[in-house]
Amino acid sequence: MCRKRSKCSFSRLEVILISCLTLMIVVTVVLLVLHFLNQERHGKLNASETTPHYLLGVGRADCTGPVAEIPLMGYANPEQVGGGLLSRLYSRAFIVADPEDSRRVVFVSADIGMVSQKLRLEVLKKLKAKYGDLYRQDNVILSGTHTHSGPGGYFQYTLFWISSKGLIRPSLNAIVNGIVKSIDTAHQNVKKGRILINRGTVDNSQINRSPFSYLENPASERSRYASNTDKEMVLLKMVDEQGQDLGLISWFAVHPVSMNNSNHLVNSDNVGYASYLFEQEKNKGMLPGEGSFVAAFASSNLGDVSPNTKGPFCVNTGESCNNPQSTCSTGGATMCMAKGPGADMFESTRIIGQNIYSKARELYEEASQEVKGALSTAHQWVNMSNVAVELNSTHMVQTCKPALGHSFAAGTIDGVGAFNFTQGSVEGDPFWDGIRDMLLGEPSNETRACHRPKPILFSTGEMSWPHPWHPDIVDVQIATIGSLAIVAVPGEFTTMSGRRLREAVEREFASHGRPGMDIVIAGLCNVYTHYITTYEEYQAQRYEAASTIYGPHTLAAYIQLYRGLARAIATNTAQDLPPGPEPPLFNVSSITLVPSLGVDRALANRTFGDVLQEVREQYRVSEVAEVTFVGANPRASAENATEHNFLTVERHNSTSATWDVVQNDASWDTRFYWTKGTLGQSNVTIEWHIPGGTEPGLYRIRYFGHYRKRASIFNIVTVPFEGTSSPFEVTAL
Ligand code: ZN
Repeated sequence: MCRKRSKCSFSRLEVILISCLTLMIVVTVVLLVLHFLNQERHGKLNASETTPHYLLGVGRADCTGPVAEIPLMGYANPEQVGGGLLSRLYSRAFIVADPEDSRRVVFVSADIGMVSQKLRLEVLKKLKAKYGDLYRQDNVILSGTHTHSGPGGYFQYTLFWISSKGLIRPSLNAIVNGIVKSIDTAHQNVKKGRILINRGTVDNSQINRSPFSYLENPASERSRYASNTDKEMVLLKMVDEQGQDLGLISWFAVHPVSMNNSNHLVNSDNVGYASYLFEQEKNKGMLPGEGSFVAAFASSNLGDVSPNTKGPFCVNTGESCNNPQSTCSTGGATMCMAKGPGADMFESTRIIGQNIYSKARELYEEASQEVKGALSTAHQWVNMSNVAVELNSTHMVQTCKPALGHSFAAGTIDGVGAFNFTQGSVEGDPFWDGIRDMLLGEPSNETRACHRPKPILFSTGEMSWPHPWHPDIVDVQIATIGSLAIVAVPGEFTTMSGRRLREAVEREFASHGRPGMDIVIAGLCNVYTHYITTYEEYQAQRYEAASTIYGPHTLAAYIQLYRGLARAIATNTAQDLPPGPEPPLFNVSSITLVPSLGVDRALANRTFGDVLQEVREQYRVSEVAEVTFVGANPRASAENATEHNFLTVERHNSTSATWDVVQNDASWDTRFYWTKGTLGQSNVTIEWHIPGGTEPGLYRIRYFGHYRKRASIFNIVTVPFEGTSSPFEVTAL
């Protein structure tokens, strides 16, 4: 110890103690300063993270339409008409609004084959009547998921009108009303919120179905990519001010053709199954199709992308037909079909859907990059038959009047065509050309030359009876949400076409002071114009090239047009863009080849809803409970009520002695089959594929229908009815 100050000296121990104390104080002060600095920084981050940049609204509405006798849109197979329901079809709408001004962007993804011009014009008309100028052609994007298992009949151009067996009003109305209703719901639910963006790779879910076309692209270009399909999924996560989930939009390039052309059950295919899984998970405790969380899996540059990952094989011999013409040594091209990854199309649909859902879930949970900034939209109508394209300063080329090549009739490995057509045809066939000339007229020399090397099968741009066969006027449109640009394209871009378009649009934004934009391609938007291949792919004339209807420079024309839109947005001059020629709206005749809806009849001594084939008394989980009823044509239900539910699976609640609904017809575990008999008689079979995790107990299946009966000579009335199976026991495995 130090007794005398002057002679004060510290012992060694004291020195160590004082040093330690000083060090501790310094460290504590530094830590405290760092802590406060950190707090301050985090405080700022948190403040900005929770400041909502947009008003967001999400909505979902049924757009299923009639599930029987209507041709399914996609494979153009006249035999493939609806015969029941696997899953309901929905329109999913998302509204992003600027809280400061009136700017809005509406993105709709509907579980339909594609958006048609008639459909879009009717939707826009209804929106105008309801909302004035709030929702318009420039800020509303309508995109089809491209399911090949949805009802057709909503087209005005003759080629699609023929393949749909006419204009089918109940089908068109269901889609128009469903889209408008989903926008109404989103509009009513608009609230402050934030958008986060994330990207990731989806594996084992695609193959390129025209790899020989892809190989036509320059090696230097191909070498920049690891794969001949785009594997990236882009996802937008939407949350409200409190961080509560609202919904998501994801874009991923894959054809929803896991369900093949032998299917007759209306359903939303692999991407629809992904939506179903996500919505079921987030809308806990709700029945399928219910709940406020909306998950859209929208289409992108899927033109040459198949989900049938086992690849093409000859159905007759089992040999591979992965060759430039997709042909088999016996049976030709009609035998070459792609399958997989599941044992049947139902399983394949679930596997691909599950893959897409799983990646989306991961991206959703991990999304942290916020989308901020102004909203902008640019839109033009363009006459695609006649676009002058500047390839470079000295080389101008033209697009052509629409025409389809011979390989269009060959179909693809996802759904083959008929007769002796093969993919990759660069020469016509005198037999078919002769028939075509006789029935539909010969293509002009000008159109032939313009489309070369495509041998023209249908010169649709020169066919106008009873209405034009293909559109001339199409929509080009871009909407930007901060640094995200949604490029809405009117058809199916192939992988490389999509890459070129994205890159060109990105460069255009960058060269006008907007570098680093995220560009997504939204497929099958606004009007359907088939496929868009690269110029090089076009030379090989596989199905996608034969279906590139405006000729070899179609892609170059779109790149020029979308660059124009990007430039207009970047330079804030989108409002000065010339709107272009307005598309026509034809008064299409309602003559249809779909059988007319007559009266329904029950079997003698039976009535509608009677059980014809009962369920068993007991099932184990993973078995299929099945019951058959005296049925009626389900089209009557679609005409009577837009959102009719055909079935329920109900579980007996012993406490309350009631039956609780556990499944409905939107469930992927239920299947509703309608079988037409003679003289207005028909049966309905309902299957419940009892999923793992089903609670053991007493269950029953119910059927809800409408039958039509003649009330007087001039009047047919629609009468609701129901049927109920006997109760059955479900036991654990
Ligand atoms: Zn397609």
